[in-house]
Amino acid sequence: MEFPMSEPRLRTAGEPITLTVDGDVAREHVTAERDQPIARLLAAVEPGIAADHATVWSGDGLFAASIPLSWLASARISDGRITGGAPASRCWLVKDVTRIELTAGRVADSLPADEVPEDWQPDLDLLAKVDEDWQRGLAIVAHPDDLEYGAASAIARWVSQGKQVDYLLVTSGEAGIAGMDPAQCGPLRRSEQIESARIVGAGGVEFLDHPDGMVVADLSLRRDIASAIRRYRPETVVTVNHRETWGGSSWNHADHRAVGVAVLDAVRDAGNAWVFPELQDAGAAAWSGVTQVLVAGSPQPTHGVDITDHLEVGVASLAAHATYLAALDPPGDPRQIVAASALATGPRLGVRAAVVFELVT
Ligand SMILES: [Zn+2]
Repeated sequence: MEFPMSEPRLRTAGEPITLTVDGDVAREHVTAERDQPIARLLAAVEPGIAADHATVWSGDGLFAASIPLSWLASARISDGRITGGAPASRCWLVKDVTRIELTAGRVADSLPADEVPEDWQPDLDLLAKVDEDWQRGLAIVAHPDDLEYGAASAIARWVSQGKQVDYLLVTSGEAGIAGMDPAQCGPLRRSEQIESARIVGAGGVEFLDHPDGMVVADLSLRRDIASAIRRYRPETVVTVNHRETWGGSSWNHADHRAVGVAVLDAVRDAGNAWVFPELQDAGAAAWSGVTQVLVAGSPQPTHGVDITDHLEVGVASLAAHATYLAALDPPGDPRQIVAASALATGPRLGVRAAVVFELVT
């Protein structure tokens, strides 16, 4: 759906960049489509926008809230109010929203354009760029779709640079769809994951067949992952958030936590010939060549990857999980999900769209 909005324009640093969804037309959208995800508005932002805050105006024009895009990306407009962003510990209630302006940084939020110093730069919490001087990567996650909320766009970029990236899935995600028998769900989600990997140009997809929803970070899981690391011999390992929350109070899935911790431990195990010596006997020689573990979805990101040219393929990789997305309530819109956070994060890396990782070495 196209939103009627002003032409987004990037002006010189320090001036407000305005993307205005204004007046009665926007009011119609907001009220006619209750629960309209604001992410869709952010996803409509075109190249050239670099903003970290949005100024959201109330219908009477008397109240404006300056809201971080990172919070806004997961917020919703409902009944003309903006709610539900993350972290939940912060909250903005703006009544009868009619206008949203993206402003280039915090200084511009509080100063008229003609009073902003010429040398002003956006006050962003900047991220370092992920080291891309490597050739082989292994992405290890709990479920089909875990990689496709952002990391897959980075993988598409690395593949385009000639790198080899393989996937190791700890489960088949068979317990992931309410109302669908695991015996039917597992094979379906495996095939969606294989198609998703094909779209970004990943190498093989291997499944370890641990039970979905009941993964434990025990020696058996560490052995399985260490074995794979010894066989694939990656320099870079990618996994998904091992921390307790996604930020704020949003509790992370037990499988993600277990797999993330097991991956970090197994990277060390893989390099120690005296740990799991039976692997050595089976021909999987110790491998200590992993130089970085990149944790996607971490609430403590440190590094980013420019995915401006790989956003579309990232969206397509999530869209491949069609059965899973359709079963969500409301159904997941892959463009909205992938683009909103990538566009909100891009300015922290000085690019249009980025995916962020916590680097563990
Ligand atoms: Zn998952």
